[in-house]
Amino acid sequence: MNHPSIEPRKYRPYQRRDLDSIEQLAALPADHREAMKAVATVLPFRVNAYVVEDLIDWDRAPEDPMYQLTFPQPGMLEPEDLARMRDLLGRDAPAEEVQTAARGIQAGLNPHPAGQRELNVPTVNGEPLPGVQHKYRETVLFFPGLGQTCHSYCTYCFRWAQFIGDDEMQFASQEAGQLVAYLREHPEVTDVLITGGDPLTMKTRVLRRYLEPLLDPALASVRTIRLGTKSPAYWPYRYVTDKDADDLLQLFEEVRDAGKHLAIMAHYSHPRELSTPVAQLALRRMQAAGATVRCQAPLIRNVNDDGDLWAEMWRTQVNHGAVPYYMFVERDTGPKHYFEVPLARGLRIFQRAVRQVSGLARTVRGPSMSATPGKVCVDGVSEVAGERVFALRFLQGRDPDWVGRPFFARYDERATWLDDLAPAFGRDEFFFEPGLRMITRGGPVDDGDALAEAAS
Ligand SMILES: *Cc1c(COP(=O)(O)O)cnc(C)c1O
Repeated sequence: MNHPSIEPRKYRPYQRRDLDSIEQLAALPADHREAMKAVATVLPFRVNAYVVEDLIDWDRAPEDPMYQLTFPQPGMLEPEDLARMRDLLGRDAPAEEVQTAARGIQAGLNPHPAGQRELNVPTVNGEPLPGVQHKYRETVLFFPGLGQTCHSYCTYCFRWAQFIGDDEMQFASQEAGQLVAYLREHPEVTDVLITGGDPLTMKTRVLRRYLEPLLDPALASVRTIRLGTKSPAYWPYRYVTDKDADDLLQLFEEVRDAGKHLAIMAHYSHPRELSTPVAQLALRRMQAAGATVRCQAPLIRNVNDDGDLWAEMWRTQVNHGAVPYYMFVERDTGPKHYFEVPLARGLRIFQRAVRQVSGLARTVRGPSMSATPGKVCVDGVSEVAGERVFALRFLQGRDPDWVGRPFFARYDERATWLDDLAPAFGRDEFFFEPGLRMITRGGPVDDGDALAEAAS
């Protein structure tokens, strides 16, 4: 049932040690290539031949957005860090010395933003569950141990710390048994979001081991299984010509036939990712197998900081039957200084984009920050009682009662994150801060208990 015009392709990754073998790079200045290698000692790097050959416009590199999205850029490190790593590589320093220096720089890049590790790890019988996060009542995140890589890494990845090979920084689960035990005890959870890394880097038979237990009729409270993935953009062959592509689509059908909703949370950063025949066929096949594709991506300087580009991307998604879902604000981690877009500018980009698409694409929400208290959307700029303010709103909250309640921050042209904002109207703190203190007090907590405590 493969489409006759798509040739099967062998997945071929390139990592740091392969940089010299990528022919297209040879056209770039030697200095740029050396800097790139230095950055790749600190931050994860991996691309594949499809990204290199079919998605990057090499005539436009290094400015090309798909190149910026996938190849290490000199500006991603602070100048002194870059100089230090270049010096070490330039004089062939021993590997341990290079690694120690890299670790030092990594530690300074806020590897675990928004209290991810400490605040969201749930427990069963008092034992913490590795590879499971439960932050919002309805949805549990699950990180399968074998899905903690991607077909290509995004330079701005907010989970970059997982990919640098430091075991202490990884949180992943080897099997679904514990997750199922947790879900049995938490019938309020309707959605399981399997994420990574990228769960679609797993072979179908491995993914099946994680999915099948969730289809058990005894787990009727789980209504939706979501797969968070960049594979439709970086390796659409996964759904079309890979050896187990048909098995994968059959697994999707089994999820549907078990009465669950299967949502592919597809990460598309740029309309070019939707432009190739194989990418379009992948979308068609996923949907034919019963999946709904919802699309999300962060707003990234040098990659997609342009309203017309987002409008084009959303129109194309709708065109192919997919649903625009979230525009995120780049998180406060890693090489944020290089990719960040201030909230005020992000809002202007969002509004320019959303104003030129039909209502079918206005299912998208944003710009949204996944911050410690929840997902906070910047709804607009307004003037209230003579003060210029941001109108903000929780799309998700650690306390569900926060959702949908408008609140206001003093307008700030340079703020890039919730932490940079001050409450409007001379208030000392935002309405959610006392509740958040209750929840975060005392380190590791069971989110469910903490919410009950905060509400009481
Ligand atoms: C975004 C997110 C979810 C899912 O939220 P939805 O608004 O339902 O898509 C769940 N958990 C965490 C930690 C998230 O960041």
